[in-house]
Amino acid sequence: MNVHESEKIAGILEDAGYRFTDSDKDANVIVFNTCCIRDNAEERIYGNIGAIKKLCLADKSKIIAVVGCMTQQKGAAEKLRKTFPYVDIVLGTSNLDEFKTALTALKKQKKYVSIKGATMDAGKDLPVYRTSYPNAWVNIMYGCNNFCTYCIVPYVRGRERSRSPEAVVSDCKNLIEQGYKEITLLGQNVDSYGSDLQGVTFADLLEKIVTTIDGKYRLRFMTSHPKDLNDRTIEVIAKYPNICNNVHLPVQSGSTKVLQEMNRKYTREDYLEIISKLRKAMPDVGITTDVMVGFPTETEKDYQDTLSLVKEVRFSNAFTFVYSPRKGTPAAEMVQIDEKIQKERVMGLVALQNSITKEISDTYTDKVKEVLIEDVNPKYEGTVCGRTECGRLVTVKGDPSLIGSFVNVLITRSQSASLFGNIVE
Ligand code: SAH
Ligand code: SF4
Repeated sequence: MNVHESEKIAGILEDAGYRFTDSDKDANVIVFNTCCIRDNAEERIYGNIGAIKKLCLADKSKIIAVVGCMTQQKGAAEKLRKTFPYVDIVLGTSNLDEFKTALTALKKQKKYVSIKGATMDAGKDLPVYRTSYPNAWVNIMYGCNNFCTYCIVPYVRGRERSRSPEAVVSDCKNLIEQGYKEITLLGQNVDSYGSDLQGVTFADLLEKIVTTIDGKYRLRFMTSHPKDLNDRTIEVIAKYPNICNNVHLPVQSGSTKVLQEMNRKYTREDYLEIISKLRKAMPDVGITTDVMVGFPTETEKDYQDTLSLVKEVRFSNAFTFVYSPRKGTPAAEMVQIDEKIQKERVMGLVALQNSITKEISDTYTDKVKEVLIEDVNPKYEGTVCGRTECGRLVTVKGDPSLIGSFVNVLITRSQSASLFGNIVE
């Protein structure tokens, strides 16, 4: 979501006559698109803004902008003003469309700061400078209504706003006509898409996209929420070949007690039931997840419950996080767990998932899989890489002309989460 927002900012700048450069020395405008989901993301941003101080003092004409969800936090704009006086533009998550206005305003004034409540009109379309051919992201909704007790997103991104199905289908159609081969629909909880519209659900939207747009392409979506992923959606995913049999379904914890304290609104058993429904409908489905350890009140038994769930489900991949207190959220007020225990727990979890990921990778050897080639693999000369329908990274010999094509690959070996192979007919 963050990367896609950067594409929108780049789109606005391109529209204003700027061109992309990856050299901070050459740049007339430097934009920091921030995230405040965890403390380390926030610290990194402050570190990076600090690191360009010399450059800014040497060239006072450089325009420095800080945008995105971190600016939306109470006191953040003030902190930026005091600590980094060379920051010229500060925009909140709902003010991205003011970027051009801000650039013009800077001709007359020293600073431009605008942070509204997070209410960006879901229908408002910004130009996009896409950076990830053959993949493209499309927002289907903004914001979140769920208020998981650890999470800052609803506070900095506001309530859920769904885009109209017509706008989403039209975006997808244009992208496929332009030659994009894979579209990922984005939302904090895609399964509650349409709850603020009349008579349209996420399953309807998926169906509408694939029945309107012909041809060979992949449709993905993230993120699904276990409390809202329903049978009809599973049916639709299984029915249409263009919809990838791949679901990112964050579990967060394997302990029902912790899930309750997180306000996730499902139990361990509910989660396992969805997994079995997904696998029944699509035996080859790839399931990935987010897991958090060290949430306040997480006991050793709760942690063991998380490990046992991870063992039981055998996720094809998992993003693992250490709980990070976010000011203003209910969990930040609870009694916190010792950092040392948090670290030990995350290490145990990562080791377990790595061994599962490796075992699953090994099962691919000698199989033929369809891969959408997405990029060169800079690690190995003369190779390109792409993903299987389930999202596994595969590297093959080949040149950049293959980017954007679907090829069949005989997998010859694996290395942790990555696969290697040869293109076959
Ligand atoms: N909307 C998605 C996730 C968005 S944030 C969902 O509900 O699943 C991505 C992931 O960051 C979350 O799934 C969670 O695992 C993690 N996360 C969110 N807040 C966090 C916090 N305060 N500390 C640590 N991890 C957090
Ligand atoms: Fe955060 Fe929960 Fe919303 Fe995901 S569903 S963005 S974790 S509040």
